[in-house]
Amino acid sequence: MPEGISRRAFLGGSAATLAATSLGAFGFGAAEAAAATSIRPFKLAGTIETRNTCTYCAVACGIILYAKPAAETGGKRVITYIDGDPDHPTNRGTLCPKGAALLNFVHSPDRLTVPRYRAPGESSFREVSWDWALDRVARQFKDDRDKNLVTTNAGGVAVNRWITTGFLAASACTNETGWLTFKVVRGMGALVFDNQARV
Ligand code: SF4
Repeated sequence: MPEGISRRAFLGGSAATLAATSLGAFGFGAAEAAAATSIRPFKLAGTIETRNTCTYCAVACGIILYAKPAAETGGKRVITYIDGDPDHPTNRGTLCPKGAALLNFVHSPDRLTVPRYRAPGESSFREVSWDWALDRVARQFKDDRDKNLVTTNAGGVAVNRWITTGFLAASACTNETGWLTFKVVRGMGALVFDNQARV
């Protein structure tokens, strides 16, 4: 396989080349060649590949998102196909039925794409910006930790534990993200810490 060409691009190109060569070898003329051009193009041709992780469960299977370039779709990439990542050590290209239906999740009209907030006493949620939501979370964490961090136990031993706020981490992430999450949470002294994998 030529260096710098992905396996999919190589296989797609090989298939197209083989078809064209075969037509010539079997004596097909211009009419047949024209007919061949009307054959539906390879559905992944021209798409952009992005590696990611299935959002659903703790198995955290590797996926590849295939998207039409922004230039073809009016300014924003559109994901047209999702498949298992054959190079991912967890799933080796396979997906369970939920993962195989991820494209429906991506394009669902019910999907939440911005944070929502319901203030104490309010009966409904309202949309807020990411900056506002993250500032709000950081503020709540800081205020609660300042107020409730236990620095020493009854015997005077330093413990620096914070048990009035809990954290729930995602399991569908990389080892590096998991490591960093653990360091941040434990570094703040938080003991109430669980993972989606156990939910
Ligand atoms: S493809 Fe299925 S098994 Fe894999 S992470 Fe997604 S939901 Fe879990």
